[in-house]
Amino acid sequence: MTKIHTQRQIVLAQIAQAARAAERSAAEITLLTVTKTHPPAVLRAAFEAGLKCFGENYLQEALDKILALCDLDIEWHFIGPVQSNKTQPVAQHFAWVHSIDRLKIAQRLSTQRPANLPPLNVCLQLNISGESTKSGVSLSELSALAHAVARLPNLKLRGLMAMPEPTIDSTLLAQRFASVREARDVLNTEGLALDTLSMGMSADLAIAIAQGSTLVRVGTALLGQR
Ligand SMILES: *Cc1c(COP(=O)(O)O)cnc(C)c1O
Repeated sequence: MTKIHTQRQIVLAQIAQAARAAERSAAEITLLTVTKTHPPAVLRAAFEAGLKCFGENYLQEALDKILALCDLDIEWHFIGPVQSNKTQPVAQHFAWVHSIDRLKIAQRLSTQRPANLPPLNVCLQLNISGESTKSGVSLSELSALAHAVARLPNLKLRGLMAMPEPTIDSTLLAQRFASVREARDVLNTEGLALDTLSMGMSADLAIAIAQGSTLVRVGTALLGQR
């Protein structure tokens, strides 16, 4: 067993335990391995250890790794800020984008998605930490953005992504994650069919799963400190 095998077993056990505690099935929770700053050899070892979905934050770094690992059947997720002049390679090389917070970016991704690929899976990043960060759509603007994105032909709107402000206050974290789930539920009552809540990282994945997360984005707990 390599270190990554062991860490993967530990994280899968954490997910299973959190799911059981919430009376949910662990099968409905995807483990996304966040690979930013790690070299291709680490990603290759992670793939061989059974991790198949990788999330990257920085476009050029991601493109270099996608090329270096093109012999592996990896599902690539883009989880960093998307700049409007960089949408084309994102549309071409990723299966998912988690960090959409403006219609213009979504429109460009839809237009630039190659016709031979399935629709690009997207999540809207919801700003749940109030003043402390500028990224993410505000709750008041979420509904309009979601309905507009849902109409774009080459995107598939899957759900919401959120990242609370750094805190060890688990009650506050639970409230933040619950607000994302509630926002998703409201959108679904408005006629959307969102199946994804991308929330929870190494330190707070159990709290996120208790609040309905369907996809946890885990770096440090799988691959060590960056
Ligand atoms: C880095 C990062 C993660 C993973 O964080 P860890 O604490 O290392 O698990 C998850 N999501 C996003 C958006 C990130 O940038």
